[in-house]
Amino acid sequence: MSFKVAIIGRPNVGKSTLFNRLVGKKLALVDDTPGVTRDRRVHSAKLYDINFDVIDTAGFETAAAETLQGRMRAQTEIAIHEADLIFFMVDAKSGLMPDDKAFADVVRRSGKPVVLVANKAEARGAQAGMLEAWEVGLGEPIPISAEHGQGMPDLRDAVIEALGEERVFGEEDEDDDAAIAEVLVGEDITDPDAEPVYDETKPMRIAVVGRPNAGKSTMINALIDEERLLTGPEAGITRDSISVDWEWRGRQIRLFDTAGMRRKAKVQEKLEKLSVADGLRAIRFAEIVIVVFDATIPFEKQDLQIADLIIREGRGLVLAFNKWDLIENPQETLAELREKTARLLPQVRGLLAVPVSAETGRGLDKLMDAVLKTHQVWNRRVSTGRLNRWLEGIVAHHPPPAVAGRRLKIKYITQAKTRPPGFVLSCTRPEAMPQSYIRYLVNSLRDAFDMPGVPIRMVMRAPD
Ligand code: GDP
Ligand code: GDP
Repeated sequence: MSFKVAIIGRPNVGKSTLFNRLVGKKLALVDDTPGVTRDRRVHSAKLYDINFDVIDTAGFETAAAETLQGRMRAQTEIAIHEADLIFFMVDAKSGLMPDDKAFADVVRRSGKPVVLVANKAEARGAQAGMLEAWEVGLGEPIPISAEHGQGMPDLRDAVIEALGEERVFGEEDEDDDAAIAEVLVGEDITDPDAEPVYDETKPMRIAVVGRPNAGKSTMINALIDEERLLTGPEAGITRDSISVDWEWRGRQIRLFDTAGMRRKAKVQEKLEKLSVADGLRAIRFAEIVIVVFDATIPFEKQDLQIADLIIREGRGLVLAFNKWDLIENPQETLAELREKTARLLPQVRGLLAVPVSAETGRGLDKLMDAVLKTHQVWNRRVSTGRLNRWLEGIVAHHPPPAVAGRRLKIKYITQAKTRPPGFVLSCTRPEAMPQSYIRYLVNSLRDAFDMPGVPIRMVMRAPD
């Protein structure tokens, strides 16, 4: 016996795209003939070895599309009356919207089995949205890309988990491994249970950014001096490319070559300096960004806006205080600069800041050490066992506050992602958890697991 699935979610999350993928053909978008029969709204679908029916909620949507409430009512009716299983879809690219929570509440109240699907997971910036998806309180989000067919094996497994093998496969359990192997499988997007993978064979991507004249080009040229440049046909050192490959102490590095870009721009007599867009492109390209400051001139909050942007983009960063050869009282200056950055960038406590002279080359080795260290932390995964032992101690030592007379309870923590590290904390009344306590947890976590200087994300969700 087959079962029926309804794909529910606010408009534009990608329901039709998944629908089409599951049904396996591009269906005519609309068939507005009045009195379309019910049957026409149910289509047989396939997910590897699982056969089922998927309800075309789009059809219902148009039937009552004028208001959100109308759409919700129509969709919910389907879920309640027809579906055996609900795919609740959110958009990991755009992140959560208030509508998502409203839809999720309706789905939850229906009491039907639900698989939470985080679509557009292949998109840039989707990692943050993936984490946010936990907040709808429908369990673990399954990252997929309906458009590119990624994440489908996980979706299959989630269906089996939600309904049970017997319900999914019926009596005759035909375990069709061949079918599983054959189907297009996109790149694995995230695997929360994966062992720590820190692939040293992949080039580490870095970029150098900072204000004009801070010394970026001088630094890049010093870093990739001849002996460090990789040679060989695949080294990719063409000046036209935006990146240059080199090696530092045996570690492959790919540098976003803003300097090359500028030289090119100069030749074309267009831009004297890099545009903001180039800086942004460099940040998105990089895993770790070196922010170069001219240590001879004072910097203020606005100079750290670029650092703030890097943090919000979830990249690792390292500060370079350049032109150190010109500094007369180095110890005092360094203490002052470090105090200032720590005060102005509290969200990345322990940020590494290194005095260098791009001109003489002094300090560049230390700078690269800091880059490597930050990259490792950025990639770090802490096991759930260790995290929860830590959590127990922390909560015993400094329990969460009571809000409106009731003490908040923290149940469980798990690391949902790396690059940068992101954690999901299961607690009662997540919305009531004060920011100050979340900051306390993040800082303690940083100390306990030695994770200085990288953005750490923490989201709260209600227990299942
Ligand atoms: P619906 O309103 O929920 O049915 O959403 P649609 O299926 O019509 O998709 C809305 C938009 O999101 C369309 O522009 C799709 O091309 C796009 N979209 C759907 N799935 C994906 C995906 O996996 N990745 C990305 N980047 N875009 C997607
Ligand atoms: P960019 O605009 O950030 O790429 O800066 P440049 O690399 O073009 O450097 C701007 C100016 O600062 C040039 O005149 C460099 O020679 C000078 N400069 C760069 N690094 C250093 C340094 O470490 N010490 C000193 N004294 N001058 C430097």
